[in-house]
Amino acid sequence: MATIRSCVRKMTGYVPGGSAKDPRTIKLNQNENRYPPSPQVAEAIQSAMMQLNRYPDSASLSLRRAAAEMYGVTVEEVMATNGSDEMLLLFFRCCCSPGDEAVGFYPGYTYYATLAAMNDVRYRLIELTDEFRLPKRLNPGDAKLVFLANPHAPTGTLFPEGDVRRLIESIPDGLVVIDEAYADFSGATVIPLLRDYPNLAVVRTFSKGYALAGLRVGLGFARKEILEQFEKVRDFYNLDRLAQAGAEAALRDREWLRKTTAKVIASRERTAEGIARLGFKVYASASNFIFFRSSGDVEAERIFASLLRRNIMVRHFRDRKVSDCLRVSVGTDDDMDAFLDGLARAKEEAD
Ligand code: PMP
Repeated sequence: MATIRSCVRKMTGYVPGGSAKDPRTIKLNQNENRYPPSPQVAEAIQSAMMQLNRYPDSASLSLRRAAAEMYGVTVEEVMATNGSDEMLLLFFRCCCSPGDEAVGFYPGYTYYATLAAMNDVRYRLIELTDEFRLPKRLNPGDAKLVFLANPHAPTGTLFPEGDVRRLIESIPDGLVVIDEAYADFSGATVIPLLRDYPNLAVVRTFSKGYALAGLRVGLGFARKEILEQFEKVRDFYNLDRLAQAGAEAALRDREWLRKTTAKVIASRERTAEGIARLGFKVYASASNFIFFRSSGDVEAERIFASLLRRNIMVRHFRDRKVSDCLRVSVGTDDDMDAFLDGLARAKEEAD
């Protein structure tokens, strides 16, 4: 044990929303896409398979070219990583020394705190307002990194571009990381702001909009001077051939993305209305999940358990300000009908 760093011994590992053992489970707890990926992904992976005897392109150049073209940046301003989680880790590895501070928002994506802990970085939280908006007074102090998911997780809130600018301008000496994991559903991105701000970085994932959570591909956008440094530190072959080929094919099939996100958004709106009709407070979502508030911790816990008995998995955070809230990912219309039905019964039981 003495050889293990004390910050590692002290930390708690990240606990992702659980996987389902029963194939009949309606799994609405990890914000995955319920639709299969574009058929062009399977085709691209199939042909890449015959080249598995060769190492992959360490630079993921073809994928990055496609991403650069799509998002209007240069190839040097985008890097490809093994899930966006690898990109998030690189910020800590490259920007922070032990004892430095990073800042996030509460409630928020908790993996940033895990990454901070494993790198011996202090992680400070700024509270969002009661409606999960950015507070008027931001105090990022001398943080090296600031993380904001937009659309936000777990709330689904979309922060307007003006808020993001305010945040970036509040910390000219730190790097502001906008995590756009769910931006395929909002259609809004701050990638063009890279022109205005050298201290901005944007992270995207293929796990949500592109339905490729199992392939593990993410993208990071920042100025060339920053990414040049990051490129030195990442795993040399961080993306295998199949991941590179699949992600590029997904990126090029824009019609698939348009159609699938439109379906998810329509189901989200219908489900949000259904949840509100049952008397819950529903927060506006620009994402592929819905965050809603029950009458208290006990009711939330009972609803969570009751849905689980019906084989429907949602997420309950059991956490200070949001322990009375539940988060449900948007599945197919059939999934959402089963969820709404289960929720209505669960509420009756809990009342
Ligand atoms: N950022 C946010 C806000 C997320 O919710 C998630 C997925 N849980 C990620 C990043 C990580 O995504 P990936 O699968 O690309 O590692």
